[in-house]
Amino acid sequence: MVVRLPLLTAAFVLAACASAPAPRIIAGDEPVTAFTNVRLITEYGGERLGHHTVVVRGDRIIAIAPDRRIALPDDALVIDGAGRLLAPGIADMHAHFQDPGAGPLFLANSITTVRNPSGGDTVPALIAQIARGEVPGPFMYSSGRLIDGAGSFWGAQVVAETVEAVRTRVREDAAAGYHAIKLYNRLTPDQFAAGVDEARASGLQVYAHVPDSMTIEQVLAQRIDSVEHLDGFDRSLGGEGHWPAQRWATARQDRFAALARLAAASNVWQAPTLIVQVAPARAFADLAAAEAAPELRYADASLLEFWRSYIAHAPTGTDFAARHRLTQQGHAQRLAMLRALREANAPLLIGTDTPNPYVMYGFSIHEEFGYFREAGFTNVQILRIATLDAARALGEAGAFGIVREGARADLLLLEDDPEADLSTLRTPAGVMAAGRWYDRAALDSLLADSAARAAASRADPPPP
Ligand SMILES: [Zn+2]
Repeated sequence: MVVRLPLLTAAFVLAACASAPAPRIIAGDEPVTAFTNVRLITEYGGERLGHHTVVVRGDRIIAIAPDRRIALPDDALVIDGAGRLLAPGIADMHAHFQDPGAGPLFLANSITTVRNPSGGDTVPALIAQIARGEVPGPFMYSSGRLIDGAGSFWGAQVVAETVEAVRTRVREDAAAGYHAIKLYNRLTPDQFAAGVDEARASGLQVYAHVPDSMTIEQVLAQRIDSVEHLDGFDRSLGGEGHWPAQRWATARQDRFAALARLAAASNVWQAPTLIVQVAPARAFADLAAAEAAPELRYADASLLEFWRSYIAHAPTGTDFAARHRLTQQGHAQRLAMLRALREANAPLLIGTDTPNPYVMYGFSIHEEFGYFREAGFTNVQILRIATLDAARALGEAGAFGIVREGARADLLLLEDDPEADLSTLRTPAGVMAAGRWYDRAALDSLLADSAARAAASRADPPPP
């Protein structure tokens, strides 16, 4: 036996070599980037693959295999991922991304996809600039500018006075190449239905608030794609008062489960955006504390001025501390509603509604994750909502939010396992957004530029 053992071993090794497939040779003229030696999370909650190589060309993942099964071209950019994890980038599913300067702030917080539920004249150009690599930023899916009825809070430029005017606006959004339309608070039921009908005919998704003229049940019955902010829930839950904060504070918890089941059965995605219900009121109650947040160094003068203008426009004598307390009561109720939605298995999205006051681009996603944790979601559930569910909600299942051949190359190189600790997403070792690679030094330099620009804008005297 002692003599034969090496022979047996040699025979086994030969057999193993004979049966191993030849390495996959990555050829072609276009340059490739390869992450080697990584622990790969192909999808959150899924399998882990050790010692793997992921090859990217252009904006696509083109090959995934064990390290020794891939032969890279000599000129490949090789990123050694030893000791790190490679994982899908995450999505902020409610972000108003119009300022190109916000792009790096999303990336630095591991966000490689944004759903923008209100486009505007500059948004299609920004999407194109990001695609060409002129602006660093996440891939953006955008609706057209919000479509509202008479008396809109947002002014005359978004108002559609008639049913036909809504149809025209939807056709214009389709022609402009938007992914969706956004229906808003002051529409009549007829206008709302016409918007949904026209959007379906044009192949556009429908994101909506619940108009004052409708109930959440009526909106869910239209089988639109998403409802934002748990809008309209407060009224159907028996909440009383003029303002949503008052109605949420008085919403009847004995009705939560039934409405959650209805939301689940409708298959309409809910984007609760809990942070935008708490952060502004919290900031207005203690502005010094809000403005001491480290991420505020990236807020330029115009953003700060926009945020502070809410205080200036509040009625004289507004008791911001009392408002904050009321908002906290409403927030506790929203958390309970989110818990009910989880128990009913309703489709959910994680979004922030940045840049509403003191809801900072990119950084705010981590606070929203925290609220989902409070509502009982596990890290894996949160990560799946922010990736696989985000893609499904956009009608893009398999296109992103997953590491697979053919998917967009939206990748995070991480020091720690986000399934164990979500906070590692605050400081990725590197981010690849649609095939463009930003290592930690590149992210830090983008952040430093952003802080410098913000500081300079604040030092300048305001224009006369
Ligand atoms: Zn919004």
